[in-house]
Amino acid sequence: MAKAGAKEKRIRITLACQECKERNYHTQKNRINDPDRLQLKKYCPRCNKVTVHKETK
Ligand SMILES: [Zn+2]
Repeated sequence: MAKAGAKEKRIRITLACQECKERNYHTQKNRINDPDRLQLKKYCPRCNKVTVHKETK
């Protein structure tokens, strides 16, 4: 029997604003291609500006 989820390469992640810690975005990533934590510049409605959003759990 194969382990459940063993073939799952795309995982769901949450992107949180690094200034206010608000979790603004949900996305997916390929953990083979992106083993490190994602870091993206995105618009934060709470800060009302573009801030760095980091992958969180
Ligand atoms: Zn923010």
